[in-house]
Amino acid sequence: METQVTVALFGFPWDGSSSYARGPALAPGIIRSVLFSDASSPYSLSGADVREIISSCHFQALPDDAEACRKTITNNISNSIQTGAKSLSLGGDHAITFPILRAIKQHHGPVNVLHIDAHPDLYEDFEGDRFSHACPFARAIEDGCINTLIQVGIRSASPEQRAFGDRHGVIMLGADEIDNISYDKLAAPLYVSIDLDGLDPAFAPGVSHPEPGGLSSRDVLTILSKLKTPLIGADIVELNPEKDINLATANVAARLVKELAPLLSAGSN
Ligand code: MN
Ligand code: MN
Repeated sequence: METQVTVALFGFPWDGSSSYARGPALAPGIIRSVLFSDASSPYSLSGADVREIISSCHFQALPDDAEACRKTITNNISNSIQTGAKSLSLGGDHAITFPILRAIKQHHGPVNVLHIDAHPDLYEDFEGDRFSHACPFARAIEDGCINTLIQVGIRSASPEQRAFGDRHGVIMLGADEIDNISYDKLAAPLYVSIDLDGLDPAFAPGVSHPEPGGLSSRDVLTILSKLKTPLIGADIVELNPEKDINLATANVAARLVKELAPLLSAGSN
């Protein structure tokens, strides 16, 4: 029989590592209110009830200092893992992913990562900040948090980031290459990180760095449905409510919570 693992929902209201616009710090509370709103169903596409899967919610304030913030995130995720739960984290900007992956590495070793994004987030540093939201996967690779990294939806890779990716064996796929995803390489332990700007702005307008030509909501759901192993952890980042239209992007995020939660709870890795 498959084990059911409890899922802890974290909100990390951090946008101090954003290079252009603030706003993502407002996202966790909005995603939570949309998720548990009477306007939306609590069921995943497979019929799982997200209210039963999510056993606890942790939406606390974070320190203003970036390093202290990263430590807090790592400690919160680490403590949650020690209780036997898996974490589903809501950003915040993409800088939250490196401290999450550090906590997971401490307990499970390096993970494979499916990363959906318009941007590779592999800068050595961005405007002098090595922990910018443009850098989390460079830091995670250097820190030994990641085995295989598959990026999907990429349409803004600079030569520097392509070179970094090539040096480290990163598989970088455009939004027109979802049929080329090697699901066999996305083996356990598997982490999923979804930057909402990986979707086309037509589907997810509420982001700080919109890049037309992206994935549809359906593309992302199809990709998730093809994963072959339960997840070890996941995050949804970069919703900027200041840019959103009629909660369109918040609703995408809430749908993704409903689809990721069953993938997290479906047994140990
Ligand atoms: Mn992005
Ligand atoms: Mn990103």
